[in-house]
Amino acid sequence: MCRECKVREAKLFSRGSWLCEDCFLYSVERRFRKTVRKYRLVREGDKIALAISGGKDSISMLVLMSKIADEMGIQLAPFHLNLDMGEYSEKAEKISLKVAKSLGLHLEVVRPTEELEVKIRRMGRRSVCSVCGAIKRYSMNKFSREIGANKLATGHTLDDIASIFLLNFLNRNYDYIRKMAPISYGAGKMVTRIRPLYYITEFETKKYLELQNIAYLKEKCPHSEGAKTIELKKVFENLEELVPGSKASFVRSMRRVIGYEPEVAEVLECRICGEPTSSKDRICSVCRMRRPQSRSVSSQSD
Ligand code: AMP
Ligand code: ZN
Repeated sequence: MCRECKVREAKLFSRGSWLCEDCFLYSVERRFRKTVRKYRLVREGDKIALAISGGKDSISMLVLMSKIADEMGIQLAPFHLNLDMGEYSEKAEKISLKVAKSLGLHLEVVRPTEELEVKIRRMGRRSVCSVCGAIKRYSMNKFSREIGANKLATGHTLDDIASIFLLNFLNRNYDYIRKMAPISYGAGKMVTRIRPLYYITEFETKKYLELQNIAYLKEKCPHSEGAKTIELKKVFENLEELVPGSKASFVRSMRRVIGYEPEVAEVLECRICGEPTSSKDRICSVCRMRRPQSRSVSSQSD
């Protein structure tokens, strides 16, 4: 029997207790709302760009954000980056458009690889994932700012945060851990980032959609195999079996030990494209990838 309502049959094991489907859906929505409220992720009048990849996490975020939009007085602007990776990208775009439409929202499709004249591929010492990540971060921020959004929401889940924390902890990259907060305030041309699924797991986003028959892209990115954060997620799955609640405890402990204060680093502007960069030579990572000759420019100025 369900631990919450004590009426319906329990069907899912979630966060240490057996729940019925209704109570499970309610528990996901309640925790999402709690994160939004506790960390003041949204304010009345916000225009929030929603980065939708078509996967279970960002589609869940789209659905959950649409539930609070009216009552919180915020405007949603979902968008999808088509990264031109063949069939995978076509499917991802289609699903993103379909779900947004079913919620009565217009979703904008952006094609960064056309705009920037780049292809997602290995470049020098940069892996495909690192190239793709740099292009995504660049385009998400640029698009959000250009449409006049004051916030940009991504579908990072507790699983993402825990594995990113562990990886950066092992690399002693503490600043990055401080930056991955539920909200990271923007400066200059950097738009404020919010991560409303900070305490929601991937198991939950998957079930949240499946129980409501909402479509999402099931295929993995063709390049994702072997990505470090994916391997680290498996570490947490094992840990969860040993110590239930490990992911959330780990994330909370890291935030407490390493510190909450997001360090607002000075945001410079790229001298080639004008987009924000933290690089001292003022060439952003995308311009560096696009123009190999810019590497020599940067080394001269160092
Ligand atoms: P990832 O870096 O692939 O783990 O994705 C993290 C978040 O970035 C997702 O939850 C989305 O919010 C966003 N994102 C990733 N890929 C795309 C895409 N192709 N279009 C729009 N947003 C994306
Ligand atoms: Zn640039």
